[in-house]
Amino acid sequence: MISLKNVTCSLGGQVVLNSVNLTVKSGEAVLLTGANGSGKTTLLRLLNGLVFPVSGEYRFQGELITASALRRHRLAKAFHQRLGYVWQNPDAQLFCASVAEELAFGPWQMGLTAAEVQQRADDALAMFALEKLRDKPPYALSGGEKRRVALAAIFTMNPVAWTLDEPESYLDAPGRQQLAAFLQELQAAGKTLIIATHHPELFAELDGCELQLADGHIAAGRFATDWEIF
Ligand code: ADP
Repeated sequence: MISLKNVTCSLGGQVVLNSVNLTVKSGEAVLLTGANGSGKTTLLRLLNGLVFPVSGEYRFQGELITASALRRHRLAKAFHQRLGYVWQNPDAQLFCASVAEELAFGPWQMGLTAAEVQQRADDALAMFALEKLRDKPPYALSGGEKRRVALAAIFTMNPVAWTLDEPESYLDAPGRQQLAAFLQELQAAGKTLIIATHHPELFAELDGCELQLADGHIAAGRFATDWEIF
């Protein structure tokens, strides 16, 4: 599903990802851990085609992802439909005038019919208990509510792979449990998950591995109970 080969990424003259190798199979969950500044967000941004390697290769479902490849409209559209991105800060992700519009935006972009858009938005409102908030502007919501809208907005597009940047932030304890249960349901439905987190214990029920970043490279990984040094 996802393959990085010797990927190095520089930003502002600084090497932020250093020769990263990563293979994620369909249906697998990868937890990215590591200190602040270790490169987790940059790795997720790279996976989503928002920054690009200066060397090395990134493939998504076999397709080479580069700046010029994403200028091809059909490829870019298919890529962004298949790969969802829940941003660390929901304020950076949400931009519509109401929750209902936010949930309809992705399905409209996909070219679905009005009835299908409505169905997907309604399903997401119910799934994330957002019905009472449907007409509110996202900026007027609490942090936890914004997080639920951000998750719901990706859910409406039903991507095959989800990338999530500290999705537990802004959520209280029950919200975190609901998030963990939701991600387990996604995995049970065959979705691929890549989650940057400071709380890997929340997602221990997922089937996959934990990779620890340090200074832009994968410093250690945990598969089941053993740590390996890469
Ligand atoms: P994490 O998500 O693990 O906290 P980040 O990927 O946000 O780490 O940051 C990794 C490093 O890259 C940090 O040193 C950060 O300052 C630097 N960095 C991130 N974005 C940029 C940018 N746009 N320009 C320059 N440096 C950046």
